[in-house]
Amino acid sequence: MVPSQSYEVTITGGGLGGLTAALALRQRGLRVTVLEQAPLLGEVGAGIQTAPNASRILLGLGLRRQLEAIHTEPLDQVRRRWQDGRVVALTPLGQACKDRFDAPYWHYHRADLHQVIREACLDPTGPGPVVTMHTATRVVELDRTRPERPVAVTDDGRRFAGDVLIGADGVRSRVRELIGAPDTLLFSGEMAYRALIPGELIAADPATRWLVDRFQSTIWYGPERHLVHYLIRGGAYLNVVACVPCTDEVAEKWTVPATPQDLVDAFPGWDDRVPAMLSKAKENVGCFALYHRRRDPVWTDGHVALLGDACHAMLPYQAQGASQAMEDAAVLAEELGAVTVSGVPQALRRYVDRRAKHAGMVQEASLQNKTFYHFPDGPEQRARDAQLRRFDGESDL
Ligand code: FAD
Repeated sequence: MVPSQSYEVTITGGGLGGLTAALALRQRGLRVTVLEQAPLLGEVGAGIQTAPNASRILLGLGLRRQLEAIHTEPLDQVRRRWQDGRVVALTPLGQACKDRFDAPYWHYHRADLHQVIREACLDPTGPGPVVTMHTATRVVELDRTRPERPVAVTDDGRRFAGDVLIGADGVRSRVRELIGAPDTLLFSGEMAYRALIPGELIAADPATRWLVDRFQSTIWYGPERHLVHYLIRGGAYLNVVACVPCTDEVAEKWTVPATPQDLVDAFPGWDDRVPAMLSKAKENVGCFALYHRRRDPVWTDGHVALLGDACHAMLPYQAQGASQAMEDAAVLAEELGAVTVSGVPQALRRYVDRRAKHAGMVQEASLQNKTFYHFPDGPEQRARDAQLRRFDGESDL
């Protein structure tokens, strides 16, 4: 529904959550401005998966043609045991997923997905006014002298007024602080190595060729750590995420560069296929401390609201952080798109009512996977593996 009166929404943060919200709001006829602190709008060089819940939203935003050009589709999700690579469970994806959920399970390079959404925000032929984007624009203060016209103030003194301000500024959200929401940040004690391994190196070695013979989304479970890998850009890269106990240095600095050898060393004694794969990482291995947020329902105050990691940062142990931000974006646009400016506070409260409980459940489930994925060998691990076998193919996404 297009509102009878268009009004202005300012979004702090041009990540996947902020840009999806910008596009969804644009399509409802609202005038949107995105403020991004980075000098260039983009994403880290890594992969991302969208399960049907997020794919459905992106397709609903009219992005099918563009997503079909950039996605890679896994045929199954495979869960393997650390020591010998034995398959614990296998869930068919591909067509089986589309048949069951009427939406696909897709993988992308993050930069490609970000670019597709960004270009749709700026496409002059699209519905609604084109989104205005300001890079190198860091929001540090909020002026709410007129509560119905919040003003985002930048570190160089620029002022951006709008009828609504959305804080989509990530796990260390400044907007969250500025509306006085509780400090819910938690350190998980874990960190993630991320690497992109060229597919041609994988294909050239008989020890790793199996990785490109069948496109799969794979999780290896082991004591205190797990490993995720999948192909992106049609097999041009293998995306690897390796989650292990965090070092003090990474906990303090949040992000540090790492070497391929660090990655190999993090999985001592694992099945030979693991070091064979990880040793092919050539460059750009990054290591990131994993922070998340405690579940909390304070997402809005008057004409200001939070979205994505700013309100429900979660461990990446269900690959749902960006996907939940996309769900936020869709619901936010439905609510704001259905009211005139006088109805904004109520629309934002309805947005929170519709989203906070579900996102909180996904936060908790992701946290539970920290234990579930990392059992040492023994009775709990055997019970888990039996449970995975029983629920094979029964994901509810
Ligand atoms: P962000 O992506 O953090 O974007 C916030 C933006 O705000 C940034 O561009 C930042 O520069 C900007 N910003 C911050 N402060 C300011 C300021 N003061 N002024 C202006 N701009 C500001 N999720 C999935 O759905 N699928 C996956 O497969 C998946 N895999 C993951 C793997 C790993 C290893 C990790 C760590 C996470 C993964 N996630 C995944 C989670 C996902 O990356 C995040 O949940 C998602 O990026 C959050 O999006 P966001 O837009 O809320 O925040």
